[in-house]
Amino acid sequence: MNDTNPDERGGFETLALMSAQIENVKSLGYERMTEIQAKALPLVLDGKDVLGRAKTGSGKTAAFGLGLLEAIKPKNFKVQALVLCPTRELAEQVGKEIRRLAQGIPNVKLITLCGGKPIGPQKQSLQHGAHIVVGTPGRVLDHLRKRTLDLRSLAVLVLDEADRMLDMGFSEDMEAIVEQAPRQRQTLMFSATFPSSIARISRAMQTDPVSVTVDAEHAAGVIDQLFYEIKKNEREGTLLGLMEHYQPSSAVVFCQTKVQCAEVTDLLNNRRVEAVALHGDLDQRRRDLQLALFANGSTAVLVATDVAARGLDIKSLPMVINYELPRDPEVYVHRIGRTGRAGEQGIALSLFTEAEQQRVKAIEEYSGTPCLIDVPASLDRQPDFQLKAAMGTVQIEGGRKSKIRPGDLLGALTGDAGLQGSQIGKIDIQDHYAYVAIERGVIRAALDYFADGKVKGRSVRARRVS
Ligand code: AMP
Repeated sequence: MNDTNPDERGGFETLALMSAQIENVKSLGYERMTEIQAKALPLVLDGKDVLGRAKTGSGKTAAFGLGLLEAIKPKNFKVQALVLCPTRELAEQVGKEIRRLAQGIPNVKLITLCGGKPIGPQKQSLQHGAHIVVGTPGRVLDHLRKRTLDLRSLAVLVLDEADRMLDMGFSEDMEAIVEQAPRQRQTLMFSATFPSSIARISRAMQTDPVSVTVDAEHAAGVIDQLFYEIKKNEREGTLLGLMEHYQPSSAVVFCQTKVQCAEVTDLLNNRRVEAVALHGDLDQRRRDLQLALFANGSTAVLVATDVAARGLDIKSLPMVINYELPRDPEVYVHRIGRTGRAGEQGIALSLFTEAEQQRVKAIEEYSGTPCLIDVPASLDRQPDFQLKAAMGTVQIEGGRKSKIRPGDLLGALTGDAGLQGSQIGKIDIQDHYAYVAIERGVIRAALDYFADGKVKGRSVRARRVS
């Protein structure tokens, strides 16, 4: 049902973008537009209100991000674009992507305003002026009420994952925020599903919106989906069998409960497949850390519940396993959407027992295509399979607030510490900490360096966190 052949999708140069932006998307490695970008960007750049059906992984952030960057005037230090997201993790992910997209435009300031963080520093950042705000509805509204945020110059409002914002009870907050924005504005709304409540808020918040849909089945083209029918007592053995047969370089295993998460994590670790559990009982900091460790290659397998996996943002995840299927087919689609992103190949494997057959049927009905069913006996197992993450992570005490930039750390590590650039992975700078992924074999050397070496002329404390 994929009506746009990827090869027929144009490049970004076909769009009415600033020339610097065309160069910039190229430098990010975006050669062709994704389907949602090809469909939505011309409308967005034409100033239209767009109601887009697309989920995370479709490239929707760039679809609205490139649009709002064209609309803002950097010389005017007023908030001109506001992106509302359901969760802090998504807001941070969206903020990061827009920052990347804004690289080619000088002096664009973006701030994220999310709950769970002290409000004082956010106020201060707002006082210094920002062009773009990305945040969660609750905290954005707090700032509006405290008059620390002013939306009178807003030109573009984006409601990202609007269905989830409604699910999470943000509808009143969203309405209160929109009331403070000028009527004359562009409103872009993206949602993975279109329940009637979405039509209602679209009517209330958008003017003559144009609907743009990326086929729900779009993902099916790049994700191989296979369902394994098992007996109740075969779940553990089959999970190991899947690992030993497919031998992924990394994977997310979805569980239904945190108890299940803990059991599966132990099972894998006992069989030399390095795994970490991620569930809602861990505090937010710990969860953020686990997600960062997985994204930077320091964790090979993440065993997660749906709630905890929300912030998962990784470019290429080769495999998703449903240790147990969810009852809601939408949750299934969301889970497997973590793999096969932006045109890459992914594989989604699901275990189900006879008692859970109804869940498979629900997925078939939802997607309109039959599920491919296999049996564990078909797995060709390599019992000596082992899986270890290639990287480890060093946490550095010092971040954005102490003006540490990725280049400072890269410079110290490849300069005085003597590491190769290729031995250093993702560098993630947060407000107070920085996380650097380093090949495991040279972590010791990096830590030894930080023990008495300096970054930007200052000593910094560093410790290994994975
Ligand atoms: P999103 O759906 O916005 O979360 O994007 C999913 C991922 O695809 C992100 O990691 C983007 O950086 C990446 N991406 C977005 N647009 C493109 C493109 N045109 N080509 C390749 N990757 C892209």
